Amino acid sequence: FRGEFKDMSKRGMLIVLSGPSGVGKGTIRKAIFEQDDNKFHYSISMTTRKKRPGEVNGKDYYFVSKDEFENEIAAGDMLEYARYVDNYYGTPLKYVNKMLDSGKDVFLEIEVKGAMQVRKKCADGLFIFLTPPDLMELRHRIIERGTDDLATIDKRMKRAVGEIEMMQNYDYAVVNDEIPAAVEKIKTIIRAERWRVKRF
Ligand code: 5GP
Repeated sequence: FRGEFKDMSKRGMLIVLSGPSGVGKGTIRKAIFEQDDNKFHYSISMTTRKKRPGEVNGKDYYFVSKDEFENEIAAGDMLEYARYVDNYYGTPLKYVNKMLDSGKDVFLEIEVKGAMQVRKKCADGLFIFLTPPDLMELRHRIIERGTDDLATIDKRMKRAVGEIEMMQNYDYAVVNDEIPAAVEKIKTIIRAERWRVKRF
């Protein structure tokens, strides 16, 4: 009867970082992935949004047409997807399953509606909500990014108010006022969660 607990954490952990657009999810995720102790596998999302300058297909997103995206949905190939400000965004299912099955931790960076779909399917996932210090700061960050026109900024802000109300459905909430501090908090949460016995 030796080693009976060795395989306890064999399946990988699904880590979902979510929160309103502009809060800095992408920046935080990149900071985590740049650190050399990072052992997570990032799930690259699929989107119908146009590529921004500097973005690379297959690295930042898989950029596809609306038809291609809808075919993926119809084929049941998406773990989750959402319409967000006139575009589709979603997580291809295959990569996530493959990694989790081989014991690797998978990291999703997605908006709130999609995260809630994942929550229903993967009750044992870890759900972290990144929140801005306040709404004015969020608007400021979206404007600073300089990638959206005013109408889009307003749409993103309206959506953000509803998204922040969903915070209560997450396991943890982290305020993003300073990037290095937020990164450390998230890494600490993940480290502890790996050894959690009881979920609820
Ligand atoms: P952006 O256009 O700024 O790249 O992304 C818009 C929003 O979609 C962000 O909140 C981003 O986190 C979210 N997003 C990115 N990939 C996915 C995905 O695969 N699924 C869902 N539901 N949201 C995503």
